[in-house]
Amino acid sequence: MLVGHLGVSVLTHRYLKADLVPVVVAGVIPDVVDKALCQGLNLTPSGRMWGHTLLGLAVSTVIVRLLWGRQTAWSWAVGYLGHLVADIGGDVPWLYPFVHYDFEPSPGFWEILWRKLQNPVEIALELALLGWAAWTVRTPQRISTKTPVPSVNVEIHEGI
Ligand SMILES: [Zn+2]
Repeated sequence: MLVGHLGVSVLTHRYLKADLVPVVVAGVIPDVVDKALCQGLNLTPSGRMWGHTLLGLAVSTVIVRLLWGRQTAWSWAVGYLGHLVADIGGDVPWLYPFVHYDFEPSPGFWEILWRKLQNPVEIALELALLGWAAWTVRTPQRISTKTPVPSVNVEIHEGI
């Protein structure tokens, strides 16, 4: 669910040094793509299809790398991978289209939301993730003791 994916993305930003915007966008893009294709446009049978594959991860990361560079691509890749890993509790077609998957017909958006709301453990876990993420954002990172202290060079010129 969106709340949990946002939490995972912010934690990835914090602990893996991923840039915030690409890691958050990549953290939700698999659902945006697949839910739009399935529930929005009725073009695919499942809400977890092309966006939830390693092929989707690889192709989108290459595009991001070409457009915005290495650091943004790294941030994108870990955000996207974090989404796929967070979805492991359900069916994730990691290797589609190279491996055949039997896609169950996906329920509509409201049915999915209703099912999620009836699972208090999952809601609590997602809220805990988001709370942890919010706490890490508010807590300043420790400064390493190995960080060099800037020095000031002062030249003293003797007067006339
Ligand atoms: Zn998903």
